[in-house]
Amino acid sequence: MMYEKKKIIVVSNRVPYNVIKSNENIKYKKSVGGLITALDPIMSKRGGLWIGWGGQAGINHSLGIKANVWHKSKDEGYSLKFVNLTKNEIRGYYHGFSNRTLWPLFHGFMFQSHFNNKYWEYYLSVNRKFASEVLEEISGNELIWIQDYHLTLLPNLLREKNKDLKLLFFLHIPFPNYEIFRVLPRDKQILKGMLGCNLIGFQTKTDACNFLTCCKEILNLKVNFERCEVIVDERSVSVKNFPISIDFKKFNNLSQNKDAGKVLKSIKKINSDIKLIISVERLDYTKGIKEKLLSIERFFEKYPEYKRKVIFIQICVPSRTKIREYIDLKKEVDELVGRINGRFAEETWSPVKYIYKVIPQIKLISFYKASDICLVIPLRDGMNLVAKEYVSCKSEGNGALILSEFAGAAEEMKKDSIMVNPYDSEEVADSINLALKMPVEERKKKIFALRKIVKDKDIFNWAGNFLNYFIKTFENSGD
Ligand code: UDP
Repeated sequence: MMYEKKKIIVVSNRVPYNVIKSNENIKYKKSVGGLITALDPIMSKRGGLWIGWGGQAGINHSLGIKANVWHKSKDEGYSLKFVNLTKNEIRGYYHGFSNRTLWPLFHGFMFQSHFNNKYWEYYLSVNRKFASEVLEEISGNELIWIQDYHLTLLPNLLREKNKDLKLLFFLHIPFPNYEIFRVLPRDKQILKGMLGCNLIGFQTKTDACNFLTCCKEILNLKVNFERCEVIVDERSVSVKNFPISIDFKKFNNLSQNKDAGKVLKSIKKINSDIKLIISVERLDYTKGIKEKLLSIERFFEKYPEYKRKVIFIQICVPSRTKIREYIDLKKEVDELVGRINGRFAEETWSPVKYIYKVIPQIKLISFYKASDICLVIPLRDGMNLVAKEYVSCKSEGNGALILSEFAGAAEEMKKDSIMVNPYDSEEVADSINLALKMPVEERKKKIFALRKIVKDKDIFNWAGNFLNYFIKTFENSGD
């Protein structure tokens, strides 16, 4: 493929490793999240440089990583460059503008979005810092692939320095509609920042269309919806949807390993007829965990015949634990789980098994494999890779996916999933009953159709489409 000949520099808020110093040793621990699940296999396969923050304040200084570039072992296949952030920068840029202003607003939680000019100033200065780190690494012909909402100003900061750069951007979260986006003070700067790119990718058609509308209405730019294009300073910027995916083969192969049956065996030891429902996500209000627990409560209330026969496993990864909204949410979820278990549990059975920690992906696969239903019902989500991982681990077709209308994954997967509105606990409870009663042949047919979607459009296909679209549109050189 054409794109494989190009050198790639990925720039994201975080590199895919947490850097931990214990005594005098430096350790690198893989971090968890959709962006990493998606991009790590591509970078491992292709090589290149990944620039980002290491997850702790002053990481370079305290670890003595002077050259800034740490070459990983050959097996990992790509290099890392750490951007050093101070405690104040982390507070203002990361916890503040990125996660208390943009994150809620872009997910449509307008009244949970806090604007504060100090946050904005840090956001701007950290984007500038990233720009100078990137500029140091450029020789001229690389594709610079910027990721996500933390770095929306970076493309134009780079473009101002060098008009010939090849700049691409992918937004992993939703892009809100015009009525919501225009509420953001600094909306114009965010749009102009992103428009420094040649190509901007979104998860869904709706997101791309929302962005184009904002360019037209807020910046008064010439927009061509059919050609997916905006004209800025006589330059054309392409805007298109590229739904992100996973390494299907990896999940499929690992799920067929004999260790992948362990979770099922240990649970079935207690009760051989038990049915399992699984949910996996970061503890985030956009994931609808509270609403889901209320639906589970409604399910056991409305269908008491499932008591002792069904267990709901909720895996929550600790996330953004220093932000107030997340601290409050953790407390509410803990209380709800306690209330539901207190209400329905019996001596040898509890309805909810709640796990609050990171589960390594290999173990997660055994949870997916063991589960009869996967409940993916966020209030809003850019894509949701868990939905794609679950079906990839179901080679025997023995599962069912209940999916929220508001997950980006719905655009591709709605036909063969059981679709619900996550705010409607009655509908969710009924859908669980429906999934449990669904005839084996129908379940298989649906899961196999979903597996085909993920297999045909895996993460390598996503990267190929995205990068080749850029080359075809802007380079036309055929190299
Ligand atoms: N994940 C994991 N361990 C966990 C929980 C989640 O490795 O204990 C991974 C999961 O396999 C998936 C990613 O985290 O690849 C979550 O991606 P998703 O798109 O669903 O949500 P995001 O966290 O990016 O909002």
